[in-house]
Amino acid sequence: MAEETKRKVKAPKLADPIASSIDVASQEMIARAQKLGVETIFDRAMNMKPCAIGVQGICCKNCSMGPCRLPLPKGGIEGEDTRKGLCGATANTIAARNFVRMIAGGAAAHSDHGRSVAEVFLSAAKKLTNDYHIKDYDRLLGVAPYLGVATTVEVDGEEMDRDLDEIAVEFAEKAMAEWGKPEGELLYAKRAPAPLYEKWKKAGVIPRNIDREIVEIMHRTHMGVDQDYKNLMKQGTRAAIGDGWGGSMLATDMQDILFGTPYPLQAESNIGVMKEDHVNVVIHGHEPVLSEMIV
Ligand code: SF4
Repeated sequence: MAEETKRKVKAPKLADPIASSIDVASQEMIARAQKLGVETIFDRAMNMKPCAIGVQGICCKNCSMGPCRLPLPKGGIEGEDTRKGLCGATANTIAARNFVRMIAGGAAAHSDHGRSVAEVFLSAAKKLTNDYHIKDYDRLLGVAPYLGVATTVEVDGEEMDRDLDEIAVEFAEKAMAEWGKPEGELLYAKRAPAPLYEKWKKAGVIPRNIDREIVEIMHRTHMGVDQDYKNLMKQGTRAAIGDGWGGSMLATDMQDILFGTPYPLQAESNIGVMKEDHVNVVIHGHEPVLSEMIV
């Protein structure tokens, strides 16, 4: 007689709503979702055991000879660490490769958002669209010098204010070039405080342009290219600065110029603002180029 094996299927664990968030509205929503049988990230996190090797960042699958895993022995390592992947990459190299690829991913995401803002900004500056207009010229005049855009002109030996539309177009064109110009360095790095800029200069981490440093991470972290973890981290720093002070900062400044510089105000927020007898359209400010069109 065939033996029947009965396995008990364990019910997945549910997250404690109160311990999951400090936000009271989120706590209520997690509890409500559980009541409705809707699984959330908080419940999934209860049932997901992190990979012990992944946690240490020492699994490499950057080429098809791997994946190479270099777990730390239970008793630790005494003396020289001889762990190596097939290509000779050490645990430090693999951890650095993985980390800087995460920087590349994050920098690409943030900075590509910035690129779309720059495209919209350029079309607004050139008056090619009726949907977006430059609202905050004071902000434009404040940041124009960082891209080397003159705000005054000399007419008959006299210093005069430059045409605002002309400033906007030059700013937009120079901003677009920050993503992929063929030479020089990221101009907007000088938007950072001067001592910080000097520190970066001394360390050799001023980005050339936003995209190039991301591409170089993908190149260098491939098999047989850069095996020096310190050098890899240096490239990660270049890409991070390219994003933080380039793509993301340009996005912030151009959004302020396009939509008006934000100012503090008192308002109701969070899930409680939704009304039962209304059609509630939920948007967020992460992509203001889109939400500006919806609101
Ligand atoms: S790049 Fe090196 S460590 Fe990574 S998978 Fe290939 S051989 Fe293994």
